[in-house]
Amino acid sequence: MALHLQNGTNGDHKKHFEIAIVGGGIAGLTLAIALHRRSIPFAIYEQAPAFGEIGAGVSFSPNAVQAMMECHPGVYDAFERVCTRNLWPSKRKVWFDYVNGYGDTPEHKVTQETAFTISNDLGQNGVHRAHFLAELVKLVPSEVAHFGKKLQGITEQPDGMLQLSFDDGTSAEADAVIGCDGIKSRVRQSILGPDHPALVPSYTYKYAYRGLVPMEEAIKAIGEERAENACMRMGQDAHILTFPVNRGQILNIVAFRTTSEPWSDTTRLTKPARREELLEDFKGFNPTSLRLLELTKPELDIWAIFDLGENPVPTFHKGRVCISGDAAHATSPHHGAGAGFCIEDSAMMAELLAHDQVTSREHLEAVFATFDAERRERTQWLVQSSRRLGNCYEWRADGVGADFGKIEAEINERNGIIANIDMAKMCADAKQRLSKRLPLGLKG
Ligand SMILES: Cc1cc2nc3c(=O)[nH]c(=O)nc-3n(C[C@H](O)[C@H](O)[C@H](O)COP(=O)(O)OP(=O)(O)OC[C@H]3O[C@@H](n4cnc5c(N)ncnc54)[C@H](O)[C@@H]3O)c2cc1C
Repeated sequence: MALHLQNGTNGDHKKHFEIAIVGGGIAGLTLAIALHRRSIPFAIYEQAPAFGEIGAGVSFSPNAVQAMMECHPGVYDAFERVCTRNLWPSKRKVWFDYVNGYGDTPEHKVTQETAFTISNDLGQNGVHRAHFLAELVKLVPSEVAHFGKKLQGITEQPDGMLQLSFDDGTSAEADAVIGCDGIKSRVRQSILGPDHPALVPSYTYKYAYRGLVPMEEAIKAIGEERAENACMRMGQDAHILTFPVNRGQILNIVAFRTTSEPWSDTTRLTKPARREELLEDFKGFNPTSLRLLELTKPELDIWAIFDLGENPVPTFHKGRVCISGDAAHATSPHHGAGAGFCIEDSAMMAELLAHDQVTSREHLEAVFATFDAERRERTQWLVQSSRRLGNCYEWRADGVGADFGKIEAEINERNGIIANIDMAKMCADAKQRLSKRLPLGLKG
């Protein structure tokens, strides 16, 4: 059965092509919204029966806000509707207060006092993933979304159309495919071939316990200042981050641990665990940190932290097939910037496709080549930088160790690269470079 591709536009016919987006997470949905706003025809194919997100909180940095605005101001409005900032007005620009969460050491004795503070214009802001996605979905016309469509493969037809085949036996056609299908991307396989090392996500030898606890209980355990505002507890080989979500009613806890053991089952990114294991993993931490961890539920999940850092993807596109978001550059979460970079991708891709001279299928390869050239270096830098930062928090980074001054300097320098961008200019510059590529695209 061939699915008819709906034109997700308001009837503007300048674009004589149709895009298939595979995957409806943050990358796929923000791209869909950005294309819809620009009257670029598309359809979206999601394997799940509905749009949805698992997991707890996600937060954004100032670059992500710029990217949201570039995609569609409605994306930013959606974020504002559901985000929770630090509760204290004096901490509105604080990203995290860093404290020594570990046992008393000769160098670092104090347990809950701020070692240093990292700030930015936006401050800390947490959204519940499911709530954010529910707001984004409102901006996507329902007729362009197709559910229960798990992509199996992409083949080019004699007439040049790309055929997407799904595991329910159905298929669809498009002029180009953008894979927003996450870290295990099938579209990445279609670009790189079945045996490429970059198909396999790499275990970062870190895992995380995640918990959501009522704010009242958190305040009793760690006091108002630490419970109501974002805090990073550093320690040897592990760290704990907390920030308020759900309008301050809930505290989001993520406790990371480094291990030398490989992850047992690479087909699954989570496994069940018990609170005793968490407490055992953090036994070197100080009493306040442990009081916090004791608030988690007795039955927990451990999340393995995988990324695409060991074998970075050598290209984001082949012909008229491209990858975006985690499919292209999944990162560990230590910068809290992975989703923000997905939104940057969406803004850039939408702006390139909106280029006046991009009107037909023949131009799409040049669009994807430009996307690859503009996005690969920045996004793959994030993957490596995030690994480095995770090690800084855990006193494991070469040349830094437990020197708080050096840790602070590294964070500020690296966060600056993430946050201090001009998204509109990045897109405008990229469009100019696309203009130079377009004649080649026409020949090719
Ligand atoms: C513990 C943790 C904490 C994080 N915290 C932050 C944070 O604070 N800030 C931040 O910016 N980032 C954070 N990130 C990163 C962020 O979550 C990701 O970068 C982002 O969610 C990736 O979005 P995506 O849409 O690219 O991929 P995904 O969210 O993985 O979505 C992929 C979609 O594609 C669908 N799909 C997959 N395969 C197929 C197929 N074959 N056919 C059809 N559909 C398919 C899936 O069902 C899914 O809906 C964190 C990540 C982790 C693991």
